[in-house]
Amino acid sequence: MTFYLSAYRSQPAAAYLFARVRLSRKEIESDLQIGLNVAYVEQESQTVTLYPFEKSYSISDAEWLRWKELQDADAISLENTGICYRFYQADAGDATIVTGLTCNTNCVMCPVSESSRCHAQLTPVEELKMQIRYFGTEIPHITITGGEPTLLKQGLVEVVQYAKEQCPSSEILILTNGRTFSVAPYAQAFNQLLVAQDQIAIPIHGSNAERHDAITQARGSFAQTITGLKILAQGTMRIEIRIVVSKLNYMDISDIVDLLLTLPRITVVNFIALEMCGNAIKNREQAWIDYPQAAAACEDGIEKLVSAGIDIGLYNFPLCAVKHKYWTLCRDSISDYKIRYTPECESCKVKNICYGVFNSTISTGCFVARPIAE
Ligand code: SF4
Repeated sequence: MTFYLSAYRSQPAAAYLFARVRLSRKEIESDLQIGLNVAYVEQESQTVTLYPFEKSYSISDAEWLRWKELQDADAISLENTGICYRFYQADAGDATIVTGLTCNTNCVMCPVSESSRCHAQLTPVEELKMQIRYFGTEIPHITITGGEPTLLKQGLVEVVQYAKEQCPSSEILILTNGRTFSVAPYAQAFNQLLVAQDQIAIPIHGSNAERHDAITQARGSFAQTITGLKILAQGTMRIEIRIVVSKLNYMDISDIVDLLLTLPRITVVNFIALEMCGNAIKNREQAWIDYPQAAAACEDGIEKLVSAGIDIGLYNFPLCAVKHKYWTLCRDSISDYKIRYTPECESCKVKNICYGVFNSTISTGCFVARPIAE
């Protein structure tokens, strides 16, 4: 969640800082003792006081609409421009670390645009470690994503190591294209660090190098990813495969699953519906197929995976795109702030159990709702 504190612009405590939100005074001292900054939000006076700086700022009525959504122990960043961002929501049970949007592939249907990736920078390792400190020690799940997190190179090893030390009971999920794990010593470092409760999720876009590399627009990426998967299979973490279903590969899904069944130790396969922004919308003619067509293309693969005893999920698919028998595979996978429904959804009998659609996929006119009557 992004929000504002215009009063901060004239008297910033720092150019950029993190702070733990507190709604009462009682834990401010203990937060300060472990080296955290605190943003004490006082409802009555509609102010925020930053500690240890002891600077107070009034929050305007318009800005308060967002500030009042903050919960105790959330973590926020403040820029001297007055832009604030909640990077950790304490009641979510999950925290995400973004290593930056930079990536070493340029997938045709990526929801991030090529220009965003080109101009993005990697987040400094020390900043990522500082974010982890604000999650607290009890956080059950941490997701590390990019861009491509392995572009941090040894820095990613350091970040994972730090997360393990600070949050020892947390499950760690790394979202990566897996190419860098073709470098054996690098993959082996993760084989040592990650344990059975952790997970690495890697996309396979085609059943062969020609199709996969055409989608990633990175020659050699298929061979690197497959090599990486084989080395990671020597570890104990769970290995998840993600198949992003688009016009570029929907005819190939069954063959992709056949390939996966030849790989060692794949524990989860998730089929992903498109988020229509960034490259995906720029390349709409090449990439987009209607969600029901994408879901239907997965059915044969789903049946093979069920027979092989592999866990399956359907990510980002609304229920009206999926046959009833597969509804139990649909997952709550869209970030809360991106979930939308169309006016037609109001008459849908299953809206209360449907996880919705990406705001971008609706606003670009790609999605057609098919309200369910019974
Ligand atoms: S019509 Fe709307 S609420 Fe109903 S299943 Fe489709 S997206 Fe979900």
